[in-house]
Amino acid sequence: MADLPAAQDELTPAALERGRLLFAGPCEFFAGAMIMDQLPPPRGPEIAFAGRSNVGKSSLVNALTGRKTLARVSTTPGRTQQLNFFDLGAGKMTLVDLPGYGYSSVGKAKAAAWTDTTRAFLKGRPELQRVLLLVDGRHGLKAGDEDIMKLLDKSAVIYQVVLTKADKVGPVELEKVRAATATALSRHVAAHPVIRVTSSAAGAGIPELRAELAALAEATV
Ligand code: GDP
Repeated sequence: MADLPAAQDELTPAALERGRLLFAGPCEFFAGAMIMDQLPPPRGPEIAFAGRSNVGKSSLVNALTGRKTLARVSTTPGRTQQLNFFDLGAGKMTLVDLPGYGYSSVGKAKAAAWTDTTRAFLKGRPELQRVLLLVDGRHGLKAGDEDIMKLLDKSAVIYQVVLTKADKVGPVELEKVRAATATALSRHVAAHPVIRVTSSAAGAGIPELRAELAALAEATV
């Protein structure tokens, strides 16, 4: 496991504890939406999880919430085709698991339908506080990621890159990917400058991400 960059360690023990407490609270699935009409009314501040299929999105949601089966972890890319809404801490925050992109096993019409719903959600949801853009720590940004970044720049929705699967890459390579990602982000107006490095398998970076999300939840009440 690589040493984590300095940005991982800047949170105070009190902030980490607030993150732990928020994510130790109840977390329940309350809605799934394939089409716009199925989007639920907002319950509070929302954080969305976006990324290519197989990037480790379900694993990260499960690691954050400490529940092994909340979001479905699948070895079949492209299976999660709807927006899934989870209520965290009885109304404190809503986690929105977006459909993965960049995989073409679903039919074209179906893919277009959920792409439209996701785009509509990302462009027009005032409660959306931040999008966590998950990027595989071994590979860095890919074409599909650039598309969503441009969309979020246009909609002025802040997004933060979370590198995943950090346990699968050595420290030198991980730092190269992190630095290249930081350079790419500096060209995007809505990109949050702090990149979080995580491993859902090893637990690295998870307490820090919880703390950051808890601070966001507190800032919006
Ligand atoms: P999703 O399609 O983005 O929801 O990705 P999943 O969470 O289903 O993960 C895809 C694959 O990557 C699964 O086989 C996971 O077990 C694996 N995976 C996810 N996160 C990690 C991680 O942090 N470390 C390792 N080694 N494997 C991971």
